[in-house]
Amino acid sequence: MIEVIAKDLRSGVEALGNMIAEASTIVPFTGAGISTECGIPDFRSPGGVWTRNRPIPFDEFVASADARDEAWRRRFAMEPTFAHAKPGRGHRALASFYRAGKTPAIITQNIDNLHQMSGFAADDVIELHGNTTYARCIGCGKAYELSWVKQRFEQSGAPDCTDCADPIKTATISFGQAMPEDAMRRATELAQHCDLFLAIGSSLVVWPAAGFPMMAQNCGARLVIINNEPTEQDEIADLVIRHDIGETLGPFVGN
Ligand SMILES: [Zn+2]
Repeated sequence: MIEVIAKDLRSGVEALGNMIAEASTIVPFTGAGISTECGIPDFRSPGGVWTRNRPIPFDEFVASADARDEAWRRRFAMEPTFAHAKPGRGHRALASFYRAGKTPAIITQNIDNLHQMSGFAADDVIELHGNTTYARCIGCGKAYELSWVKQRFEQSGAPDCTDCADPIKTATISFGQAMPEDAMRRATELAQHCDLFLAIGSSLVVWPAAGFPMMAQNCGARLVIINNEPTEQDEIADLVIRHDIGETLGPFVGN
């Protein structure tokens, strides 16, 4: 039995509370687990969307109009889920740290926009996998509202950019697409300049994103991992809380 695993929720919350009180710069890193209580499915989980629908790789999206139509059909099928999701207790707790000036910015693997909705300025949400609540031209980067894309899609299939005629895609990072350089650079800086790094709701297996917790710890930060399931990096953490994220972070909402 590793000492750092909280023996129950109460002792975990207490230990976390002490670390938060002692920290001057808290950097949260979030994955799908923080959004499941908001009704957003974990795409990678067993039985999740990606095990039923193979994700469409970027090169296929670029090469094939049929693939683009299929990608947009799937996205619009998910629209009720994304459009109605509201920030959960985890999002609200992290937004409290942000409002209190303890959290300069947040790193996320999520594409659901819920950190922005909870009160983070868009510039302070470092999205490693992009954002699915709007679209961009893959050529010139022009942004589009999904409602505009949907209207065009229903008339004549997946639309192209009105400026440069390249395909329009959700503003997410697809498989086979390069990681966003600016987001990676900012995430690296954040991980290197904090004294408490909170890895929340991620199994910490997807690289390079999963490298940030270790990077933070190597630079002197304490590392806390909050996840329902064991993660790849529990062994190096200073505290592991294997409980529901909403219940674990609920006590910190409004602090
Ligand atoms: Zn364009």
